[in-house]
Amino acid sequence: MSRPVQARRLEGVDKNIWVEFVKLATTYSTVNLGQGFPDFPPPEFLKEAFSRAVSGEKHMLHQYTRAFGHPPLVKILAQLFGKLLGRDLDPMTNVMVTVGAYQALFCCFQAFIDEGDEVIIIEPFFDCYEPMVKMAGGTPVYIPLRPKAPKEGKLMSSADWQLDPAELASKFSEQTKAIVLNSPNNPLGKVFSRGELELIADLCVKHDALCISDEVYEWLVYDGKEHIRIASLPGMWDRTVIIGSAGKTFSVTGWKVGWTVGSNRLLQHLRTVHQNSVYHCATAAQDAVAQGFQRELEHYGKPDSYFVQLPRELQQKRDQLVQSLVAVGMKPIIPEGTYFLVADISEFKSEVPDVPNSNEPYDSRFAKWMVKNKGVAAIPLSAFYCEAHKDNYNSFIRFCFAKDATLKAADDILQKWKLEKTAP
Ligand code: PMP
Repeated sequence: MSRPVQARRLEGVDKNIWVEFVKLATTYSTVNLGQGFPDFPPPEFLKEAFSRAVSGEKHMLHQYTRAFGHPPLVKILAQLFGKLLGRDLDPMTNVMVTVGAYQALFCCFQAFIDEGDEVIIIEPFFDCYEPMVKMAGGTPVYIPLRPKAPKEGKLMSSADWQLDPAELASKFSEQTKAIVLNSPNNPLGKVFSRGELELIADLCVKHDALCISDEVYEWLVYDGKEHIRIASLPGMWDRTVIIGSAGKTFSVTGWKVGWTVGSNRLLQHLRTVHQNSVYHCATAAQDAVAQGFQRELEHYGKPDSYFVQLPRELQQKRDQLVQSLVAVGMKPIIPEGTYFLVADISEFKSEVPDVPNSNEPYDSRFAKWMVKNKGVAAIPLSAFYCEAHKDNYNSFIRFCFAKDATLKAADDILQKWKLEKTAP
């Protein structure tokens, strides 16, 4: 017997539902509301900045730049986050640019997690946290947000999904090295309240745990909700890494520019991982993002700021999708943030029957049925839970509403579906 070719750290992390669902979407879907990316263009000022970066006089923008972040970008990020957090930030030590938020997450787990360390993950969670913790040798410890029934006749809100304080406290132990917080949360769209963040912060301080705070949807909050940064709470600056993404901030997911903001105590270790893995990310894209932030700082809080306009437009799209889904008989959970919406499909069991004792969660079977029979791609919510909890949350699917033409096409299909259902 020859020895296995793959390293032990890949055991149990080699399966990924995205491969299957992306393939299903490309094979069958007319409209893809599955994967999270906008189908509309980024703002003109950002496209112009990128064009200037690649075709202007500054030919050094085609070469390597500073490994830990192109100087104009780290400077403007330090200025913006300094303002948001109310503290002076050093662009060279408190900010590091990464290849998307994805690489920022990877750097955090590699830099902080040892064999035997536990990392608390709040469910439902952005699916890569689990394999990333495991690849670093850590043990994920899961805690689900628990849904409360909405008021009679009302749709549920993502705010109805809450942590049980005693249950959360019980997950912290001597082994806890970190908790991953994702607010606004993908897939639910939950925006954690100050009270919820204080609960998490107090436990982090009490147990000397770090907080990996994935805030990629920080500008996408609706209905006047406020995004609160956990790093601004007492005792948290020194133990939090804030993670952000230009992909979500400026609707350019393909550029893969992300960042981390935090104390030098933490970021120095992220720099070690970054230096010895990707080294740095595309200079021209960083330069354009720096110019985008420069423009946003100048228009901060004004009606023509992209950070004001984008959530306003997305909120309308959210409401449009809610209407279309309600019409067809799904029960959307109104998201307070992000560009995702989770809908309850438990009413569909007569149309798409469950298979008793099947290994596949119902929502996964339903999502496959929907893409094959209706041409609409969505993602089963159970994909955002650990193996042991998948079956407790198997009657929901996630849609992405950062779409223009796609959302209109989806509405046409859903209206037709509704007529078929109501036809005598
Ligand atoms: N975190 C969350 C919660 C996300 O939803 C995503 C993208 N879907 C990322 C991180 C990764 O962001 P990026 O594209 O900047 O790598």
